[in-house]
Amino acid sequence: MSKIKDIKTTVYKWTGPIVPPVQNFCTNPTDLLRESKDKMKSFRFHKWLVCEVISDNGTIGLGNAALAPEVTKKAIDCYLKNLVIGEDPFDYEYIWEKMYRHSLAWGRKGVGMVGISAIDLGIWDLMGKLKNTPVFKLIGKRTKEKIPVYASKLYSQPIDDLQKEAEGYLKDGFKMFKMRFGWGPKDGENGIKENLKLVSAVREVIGFDNDLMLEAYMGWNLEYSKKIIPLLSKFKPKWLEEPVIPDDISGYAELNALGQIPIAGGEHEFTFYGFKQLLEMKAISYIQYDSNRVGGITAANKINSLAEKYDVPVIPHAGQMHNYHITMANNICPFSEYFPVNQVEIGNELFYYLFKGEPKPINGFINLDDNLPGLGLKISDENMNNFSIIE
Ligand code: MG
Repeated sequence: MSKIKDIKTTVYKWTGPIVPPVQNFCTNPTDLLRESKDKMKSFRFHKWLVCEVISDNGTIGLGNAALAPEVTKKAIDCYLKNLVIGEDPFDYEYIWEKMYRHSLAWGRKGVGMVGISAIDLGIWDLMGKLKNTPVFKLIGKRTKEKIPVYASKLYSQPIDDLQKEAEGYLKDGFKMFKMRFGWGPKDGENGIKENLKLVSAVREVIGFDNDLMLEAYMGWNLEYSKKIIPLLSKFKPKWLEEPVIPDDISGYAELNALGQIPIAGGEHEFTFYGFKQLLEMKAISYIQYDSNRVGGITAANKINSLAEKYDVPVIPHAGQMHNYHITMANNICPFSEYFPVNQVEIGNELFYYLFKGEPKPINGFINLDDNLPGLGLKISDENMNNFSIIE
């Protein structure tokens, strides 16, 4: 029997070069506030939390979290860590319930659940390493020869640059593409025109034989969404993602019921209970939890079972190993997101600078190694000069 001896949390803060912010880069929830400067500020992720789950034989499981890393670190260090030390990592279900029930007064959603997720991922990585098997083989094993991935970037920018970027992904062999909008409710009719121009430009490059997904990143409201959806439907998008804020579940349901563009969401939703409500209300046609927020792999497994009952596909947010293993092991997860590697911009890319072991896509597919134990990630020392470390 193994025991968890310690939990160690470290925040890695990127201090290296970044792509400077530009206006109308991506819609987001702060667009509806009075402030106007650098609206993406709160949604850039330039810090990452690593959570080491250390067993009594010295084996270390690596979990991670991207949301509010310093606050999540506090939640783990001050509350969750002591609940986990001394437990057998293979009692993952009990450990999850223990963390969840002890933190219910303040946890449930947000930072509390992000902390539980980081520990849970570390526990699954540790179990894989102790069993000398990849995590996907501890869940449902291999459901696909390789995982189709979609290129997820194409932020709002001048049309020529946007088309060049799309052409690049097409040349690399991708067949699915996700793009962002630059304008929302405060930008009036002209903003609608600008948004339509972006979508039209990408469709022009990728044609209608490839899939196009649209992402509003919580930046619109119900009224605006109802106005623009009929105008966007001619571009035959596969889905429209997070058109309204995640708490507006009835808004989600209303838009999904229009039947014009399937609505996707869930990267800012938490646990089995959050998704139970979304599915019962038929609020989403695609589930997009991220296992480093939703409650780890333990919660993701339960949501997948629920998703099967409703026949709603699960395409986890972000690629990243903690999600790829889930996609590989589940039939209800047909493909995966992939953030193209580039200079540090919005922060999704930081993952590649911090960890090594992420598979590279070939012709729009990634694969997992059958013999690499755990999640298959290590901290990379290549870029450590560009990180400051908070222990
Ligand atoms: Mg998204």
